[in-house]
Amino acid sequence: MGKEAKRIGANTFQFFTRNPRGGAAKPLDLDDIKAFEQYRKENGIISVLAHAPYTMNACAKDAGLREFAKNTMIDDIMRLENIEGAMYNFHPGSHVSQGVDVGIEFISSMLNEVITENQKTLILLETMAGKGSEVGRSFEELRAIIDKIAISDKLGVCLDTCHIYDGGYNIVDNLDDVLNEFDEIIGLDRLKAIHLNDSKNPFASHKDRHEKIGEGSLGIDAIARIINHPKLKELPFFLETPNDIDGYEQEISLLKSLYKC
Ligand code: FE
Ligand code: FE
Ligand code: ZN
Repeated sequence: MGKEAKRIGANTFQFFTRNPRGGAAKPLDLDDIKAFEQYRKENGIISVLAHAPYTMNACAKDAGLREFAKNTMIDDIMRLENIEGAMYNFHPGSHVSQGVDVGIEFISSMLNEVITENQKTLILLETMAGKGSEVGRSFEELRAIIDKIAISDKLGVCLDTCHIYDGGYNIVDNLDDVLNEFDEIIGLDRLKAIHLNDSKNPFASHKDRHEKIGEGSLGIDAIARIINHPKLKELPFFLETPNDIDGYEQEISLLKSLYKC
């Protein structure tokens, strides 16, 4: 994955820890990781983000599913501990008619069981669009989770531009206001990564369908303001746009042409 990232002009990449729809992870290959660390140093791959499987629901109604989420996260983090500076992003969960407060309680109690004092891997809560009963649809909901975590310095936030625009944060017209709100409620020091996506749907639609950069409701001008914003420009950006590898290569070069160093 490091070589492919380099080939298409990236200095960072995101990967799924296992099949995004669920299933077992491949056995850990420490030689492979060593080779990767060496390659990274030589080729300037500065940041690596792992994404938890979508099927993981820390606030499912079924206790067995919650247990599965916890065990998946523990196993994923144990693996990531071998990668320098790796971060682990996950969707907080869907409370499925139990109510958001119950959801927040389940998610935070899982995190309290997972997080250890010695872990190096940062866990990132992803900002969600608020589709169905998704938890994490507002900065306040993420804050409520963070407030319940004992070892909260292992916790950060990954901001998904499609999700928050669909979720009702107007980063097209009021980027500064949205970032100020994020800072007041969560704190910008928690913001560790950006999922850079355009959206197929209009503002506040609570839909979550990603679009190619510049081809959706955010548009290229808003994207350019996002990647150049002084509060964001040093963060790692990860594309999750509907593309094949050549499409990503083109988007990366487009974004580089818009990025003011
Ligand atoms: Fe995600
Ligand atoms: Fe995302
Ligand atoms: Zn999404």
